Amino acid sequence: MGWWFRIPLWQRVVGALVLGVLTGFLWGPEAASLKWIGDFFIKAVKMLVVPLIFFSLVSGVAAIGDLRKLGKVGGRAMLLFVVTGQIAVWLGLGLGTVLQPGVGVDTSAIERGPVPEPNATGWTDMILSIVPESPVQVMADVQVLPLIVFALLIGIGILMAKEEGTPVAKIFDSGAIIMQKVTMLVMELTPFGVFALMAWVAGVLGMEALQSLAQLVGLNYLGCLLIIFGLYPLMIRLLAKVPVIGFFRGMIDAMAVSYSTASSNATLPVTLRCTQRNLGVSPSVSSFVISLGATINMNGTAMYLGLATLFGAQIFGVDLSLADYIMISVTATLGAIGAAGIPGAGLIMMALVFGSVGVPLETIAFVAGVDRIMDMMRTTTNVTGDAAVAVTVASMTGELNVEELVSADDV
Ligand code: ASP
Repeated sequence: MGWWFRIPLWQRVVGALVLGVLTGFLWGPEAASLKWIGDFFIKAVKMLVVPLIFFSLVSGVAAIGDLRKLGKVGGRAMLLFVVTGQIAVWLGLGLGTVLQPGVGVDTSAIERGPVPEPNATGWTDMILSIVPESPVQVMADVQVLPLIVFALLIGIGILMAKEEGTPVAKIFDSGAIIMQKVTMLVMELTPFGVFALMAWVAGVLGMEALQSLAQLVGLNYLGCLLIIFGLYPLMIRLLAKVPVIGFFRGMIDAMAVSYSTASSNATLPVTLRCTQRNLGVSPSVSSFVISLGATINMNGTAMYLGLATLFGAQIFGVDLSLADYIMISVTATLGAIGAAGIPGAGLIMMALVFGSVGVPLETIAFVAGVDRIMDMMRTTTNVTGDAAVAVTVASMTGELNVEELVSADDV
């Protein structure tokens, strides 16, 4: 067994990913019988989400030390979330306009998937859902956003209580460390989970489903890769001023887990660990930015919503004006913020964007069959973006240990 643990975890994970794809292609739909192993892994990681966010966010806010600095970190993170989100949507719109993925598509060749129920909740409901009615309920239901609000308030309370808050702050510090150790244990399951999930996707999807929608799937990958390897490196190089290679090396685990699970939430514990251990982001900044980012910062989803709307408009012959483009950029941004960090969330948000510019909701049925394979790439883009913002904000506020990032070997 010793040899297994001597291989760095990220190498085991990448190996599992490749092996999983091969197994799926060779074994075909039968590979679905392996899916339970992937589900086992996802369950184990999800188990960590609530205690990890709660302990590390409270201890992180308390460690920031004063409210002014908290505002500085929060303000910068939000600004970067918004700017990168806008660039992403317009990239999706640009790719869709220039390369026209929907023109000439034979829709009769596409097997239609189910249309998800459009999200009925309005904006007031969404704002109300941020406030936790009962913190315990929020934890039991794994509602990440209200949990973050609650944890932030407890952290702020500790800061305001000064010396009298110290004993509780210590409990949270110790809890955060314990949760990191538990995360380490659970991450040993990663190679098995990634292998099983990749075999399932590759086996079940097959090549035929992809062919008719190849242009859309291809552009989704192109857009996401441009964001990951164009936009983020620019931000990391120019704003964070740290080596780009070190960033990607440190993020391999989180990127592989996000790709195979298609869930920002399920990847959250891994992203937290990568940013803290491999990228040298301080626990306070990483827990704050990564937890928040996993829920609201979704650049891959924003790009895809823009692209998919144009695809729908093209297959159904809907003409879009400049005003429509602006409308899409607004609704796609809101959709990306509102989408939960779970598989297929972006698909549900399409209804919001399509409805705003008169693109038939039927489009959703056309793309549903291949959504998973696109979702995997969107999620990787979303998760990498959270880490890029965390590194940048940490660097701007003196919370980055560059040596750790440069020497990111493995863990
Ligand atoms: N699955 C994505 C995520 O968890 C959201 C989406 O469907 O676009 O980040």
